[in-house]
Amino acid sequence: MPLEEKYLSLLNALIPQATPKALERLSVLFDLVLDTSRKINITSLKSPMEIVLKHFADSLSLVQSPAFCARADAGESACDIGCGGGFPGLPVACLYPHLPLTMIDSTEKKITCLRENAKALELSHITPVWGRGEALAQASGAMRESFAMAFSRAVARLPVLCELCLPFVKKGGVFFALKGLRAEEELADSRHAIALLGGKVAEVIDVSFSAPCVDLSLFSAEEKSIFDEFFLAKRAIIVLEKVKNTPPMYPRAWGKMTKKSL
Ligand code: SAM
Repeated sequence: MPLEEKYLSLLNALIPQATPKALERLSVLFDLVLDTSRKINITSLKSPMEIVLKHFADSLSLVQSPAFCARADAGESACDIGCGGGFPGLPVACLYPHLPLTMIDSTEKKITCLRENAKALELSHITPVWGRGEALAQASGAMRESFAMAFSRAVARLPVLCELCLPFVKKGGVFFALKGLRAEEELADSRHAIALLGGKVAEVIDVSFSAPCVDLSLFSAEEKSIFDEFFLAKRAIIVLEKVKNTPPMYPRAWGKMTKKSL
């Protein structure tokens, strides 16, 4: 079932950068997300309004970063770490179909579905990889410090996330952490980890969406309340620059990272 016109208009109002072709791909992605959810439980979000706002618009908040847009427009290599069912990577690829994007997750069935969904969307520049981020980012590995940018959503608190993700980013590259309410608090707890791992805080973007000019009477009361909640929610993108190489001893094993974060 493709995405109804009213949801596409809403999405387009929230993400004006989305071209008609990108919206077409997002509509196909919507159908794939529903289908994949039926096969494996990749998302607890099932209604069109939730998927459009909390998966698509939220993932595409990345386009509020000029640093992200410049690199994506230039087709620089990117990596989505802990992508789960494909977020934020798949909506991003719907906008930037030529972006060379590696999508990593430690759950095999998610990567299997992702591979099928990328094929159905004809996104041939996506490379799905099944594995643990901390293993793939080891100093001896091919992916170590090989990406111009990395991004991640809903995987770990920032101190742990930095240890997991910054080793993938090459010097001069950027890591974008999509965060919620506690972004500032997490950032305050991560200052030491960021410096130790070769990062530097470039900026913290307060994500905001302008109120869309769409006819809200087209939506049910329940949908309007999801919409209100989405608009009130606080989100931020923490943008970290990679200014130095990560020392070879990081990332440590997951247990160490989480029990004794840097
Ligand atoms: N990023 C997606 C999103 O925003 O919908 C998925 C978020 S889900 C809560 C967290 C995902 O991270 C899971 O799919 C899990 O398998 C993956 N994950 C957790 N730790 C990981 C690790 N060390 N390496 C790779 N993937 C990991």
